Formats: sequence, structure tokens, C-alpha cells
Amino acid sequence: MDCPVCKNEPMIVLELNEVEIDYCLSCKGIWLDAGELELLLGSSTETVEFLNSFTSDDITKEKTHKCPICNKKMEKILVIGNRKVRIDKCKYNHGIWFDSGELEDILGMRKLDNKNKVLTLLNDMLGKKIKE
Ligand SMILES: [Zn+2]
Ligand SMILES: [Zn+2]
Repeated sequence: MDCPVCKNEPMIVLELNEVEIDYCLSCKGIWLDAGELELLLGSSTETVEFLNSFTSDDITKEKTHKCPICNKKMEKILVIGNRKVRIDKCKYNHGIWFDSGELEDILGMRKLDNKNKVLTLLNDMLGKKIKE
């Protein structure tokens, strides 16, 4: 699957907590197929509430990307935690695109059961220092 930002750049597949994620070495963006964010966050009521708090953001001027699966324009989703993060989500529910650092921001927003485990794995994998 090619990176939706770099276009003809194939992403590599990494396994994180038994979830396969697609990672672009060039822009450091991450693609999660539908349902994989839920798997990473764990299935607590907090997760469900958190995911339900995502709202679409039509007024942002941020450049939209195309879904790497259906090639249709994705919509911007605003996630509000201790900071605001805009992610790209396929309208046809193929998955979610995170620009570099956005997945870490989102994982860091909530007191999730497996947050530390997932963050540590992710940062190990991407060779970054853990930011809390
Ligand atoms: Zn890329
Ligand atoms: Zn799609």
C-alpha cells in the first residue's frame, strides 16, 4: 500500500501489540485499517467514549489526503484532548491516517489501560524517545 502523503512511496508493515500498522519511512505517517485504533486503545468504555468524541472538521484549511485503499478524499477529524489533533479518516471507513506524531499524541491523551505498553512499543519500533 502506498503512502497517501508521499504517493508512490510504499509503506512498511509493522506489528504493534498484535495489530498490523502501515508506516511510511519517508514522512513517518501511520495508517491504521478500520478497527485497529480500537484494538490499540483497548475495549473499555473510556475508549468507546473517546472514539465517539471524534468530530468531523469541515472548516480546516489543512490539506486533505486520499485514502490509500479507495483513493477517495478522506475527511478531517478533530480530536480534542489536552491538545487538538486533526487526523484523516476515510469516509467509507477503510481506516485512519495519522501524520507523524499524531498517533502518539492521541495515545497520550487518555488514561488508557494499555497506553504505556502501546506507546513504549510504538516508540521502540520507530526508534523514538518516549514522550509523556
Ligand atoms: Zn509518506
Ligand atoms: Zn477508503
